[in-house]
Amino acid sequence: MITVHLTETEIQLYVDERQMISDEQKAHVEICTKCQAKTKNYALLFQSIHDAPKPTFDFDLSVLILEHLPQTQSETLVDKWMKYVVLGIIGIISLILLYLITPYLWAIFATISPLLICTIIVCTAGISMFLFTGMYHHYQQKIKVLNTTAPLQQ
Ligand SMILES: [Zn+2]
Repeated sequence: MITVHLTETEIQLYVDERQMISDEQKAHVEICTKCQAKTKNYALLFQSIHDAPKPTFDFDLSVLILEHLPQTQSETLVDKWMKYVVLGIIGIISLILLYLITPYLWAIFATISPLLICTIIVCTAGISMFLFTGMYHHYQQKIKVLNTTAPLQQ
């Protein structure tokens, strides 16, 4: 048995993590009234810390965060019509060009072998599927991120 009183750190370990101190120190606490008093004080202190209410904000934090997030601008009616007008002009120009070059396109396809045309179609389809798959995975990752952060916006 040791005759020296335990330090403050050892007393705290005796109260909170008793397995961290030696058996000799435990035996000392069993017979020493001074160390027992200290252990009772620390036990009360630790209990009061444990029982203290958890700190909470007295305001709604999500509202404050949402006020600082950048707002998405809604599309105005003029922007919407302008988009359709531009797409319409591009479509009309494309149709006119297609009409003008159609005879030359037929001449090109007539001179190219069907095997080469099939090869071009298969390669185009393969590349398109590869790009679509990558885009779909990227989209799924973004949706997953949005779903995990969605509770902030409630
Ligand atoms: Zn002691």
